Amino acid sequence: MSTYVILLGPPGAGKGTQALNLAEHTGLLHLATGDMFRENVRNQTELGQAAQRYMDRGELVPDELTISMLLDRLARDDAQLGSLLDGFPRTTEQAEALDAALAEQNAEIAATLLIDVSADEVLRRLGGRWSCPDCGAVFHEVFSPPQTEGACDRCSAALIQRDDDQPEAIQRRLDVYAQQTAPLIDYYQRSGKLRRVDGERGPDAVGADLLAALESAD
Ligand code: AMP
Repeated sequence: MSTYVILLGPPGAGKGTQALNLAEHTGLLHLATGDMFRENVRNQTELGQAAQRYMDRGELVPDELTISMLLDRLARDDAQLGSLLDGFPRTTEQAEALDAALAEQNAEIAATLLIDVSADEVLRRLGGRWSCPDCGAVFHEVFSPPQTEGACDRCSAALIQRDDDQPEAIQRRLDVYAQQTAPLIDYYQRSGKLRRVDGERGPDAVGADLLAALESAD
């Protein structure tokens, strides 16, 4: 029997960090559509070129491209026991396409874990984020500053703010979340799959609650 778990929450909720921790504890395959798109951009694939302009503006990549990318990935051998979905679905259309694809294999979502964080907290967290363009390390002005201001601790490269971490793009990502993704909270609540965790605490406390929520969903 396969286990599919969705991690839901606004940008900056800590989905990426928590997904790594959950995947390690459960053995589930971690699939993050944001990472998949960034890899396509790096490799300059056709999909990457189509996705990049949406990503830079903080907008969603169109459903058609996103759904086919994710369903192709789920069809591969290493995903047959299930997976932990991080950043997908982000629209009702994506959620319906996922339900339909899983139903074809007599599978379904085991749980949707919502990391609940307010818009104010998201602005505070994402506003100070700096990334290393060379090794990918991420720092935060307040929560995890680099030892030397503006330089990567690991490789000394000059840190940058990702295009989608610029203030206008952050606001845009929040608006997109409110309009297109937040309706999924109701969608999964209606099917009894939603588990809500308070995300405005340290990563260890949030991680422990997520694991407990997942166990109680079995
Ligand atoms: P993330 O790393 O999850 O914040 O994703 C980075 C960017 O990739 C988003 O701002 C979107 O442009 C795009 N993206 C990731 N997942 C999806 C999705 N499920 N639907 C549409 N666009 C997505």
